[in-house]
Amino acid sequence: MKRIVIFLSFIVFLACKEQPKEVTTTSIVGTTIEETLSPKDNFGIVIHGGAGTILKENMTPEKETAYKMKLEEAIRIGHTILKNGGTSLEAVEKTINVLENSPLFNAGKGAVFTNQGTNELDASIMDGSTLNAGAVAGVKTIKNPINLAREVMLNSPHVLLSGSGAELFAKERNIETVDPSYFFTEDRMRSLEKVKETISKKEADKTTAFYDHTIKDSKFGTVGCAALDKHGNLAAGTSTGGMTNKKWNRIGDSPIIGAGTYANNATCAVSSTGWGEYFIRAMVAYDISALMEYKGLSLKEAAKEVIQNKLTKLGGTGGIVAIDHNGAITMEFNTAGMYRATMNATDELTIGIYKKDE
Ligand code: ASP
Repeated sequence: MKRIVIFLSFIVFLACKEQPKEVTTTSIVGTTIEETLSPKDNFGIVIHGGAGTILKENMTPEKETAYKMKLEEAIRIGHTILKNGGTSLEAVEKTINVLENSPLFNAGKGAVFTNQGTNELDASIMDGSTLNAGAVAGVKTIKNPINLAREVMLNSPHVLLSGSGAELFAKERNIETVDPSYFFTEDRMRSLEKVKETISKKEADKTTAFYDHTIKDSKFGTVGCAALDKHGNLAAGTSTGGMTNKKWNRIGDSPIIGAGTYANNATCAVSSTGWGEYFIRAMVAYDISALMEYKGLSLKEAAKEVIQNKLTKLGGTGGIVAIDHNGAITMEFNTAGMYRATMNATDELTIGIYKKDE
């Protein structure tokens, strides 16, 4: 009997020793299953701070350094989260927060002005592991719209909330709000005045004039992030003030799932920036994923096809940053420049602004 007890204890000891170190419990439709998390070494993150007519000759060395420093600060926040085993969703949100809090970018603090001299902000976020998504459009008092988008995704039965309803939801969920004057910056006000001046001089059709000028003079400046975490989950998010001089509660692509943001663990995570109307019509972010899913294209091939062929033929300008389920990163744009940065699992950092930085 004693021998049997010793033998059984030995078996139990062996069984315990065999246990993997990292065990997590996942609940699936009421049934609790145990699965082993085997953290992959592969993870990565890519960000953009807008695409447009960004030319070296129009940039001062100080400004260039300021942009690069902010891009690096932001991407390092997300990279550290991923490195420590955090989720891609958290990395995307926290990285975007840094860019939203900077007046350099057209999101949060640096949002551009509407025709009425107000600021209306849009944002969206998507979880590639569940295809769950959240977005807000036309909010005026939300300090970090990406946080509200995440809240919509996690704590509401909806995907997209707008205007005063979104603000009410923010209040209920204790999301930080600010006085609309928080979004005032001299730079953005000057841009609005310049656009209005040019339009009033033009005899041409007002709609065309509005867009023509905005595209030529605006650096866009929307911010976005796509990330793959160690658990193999992809996420993407985008935040913006929209386009200078926008009217009639215009909403761009940034809060539109499939246009401005898309993430699917089976394919990739994408964040867009550029002339929103075209990105909506071309369903840019989803189209890249769909080419991978249905046609077996690589992320690079898919992004190239959508940006350089489809979007360009339509007349749209802008770009995307994306990462696939294997950690491969792609940045594709058809403008003179795009503020961008990448970091991978080996801590390698790249920062680019102009086309030739590729
Ligand atoms: N896509 C944004 C919009 O149309 C603008 C931008 O990317 O800067 O609202």
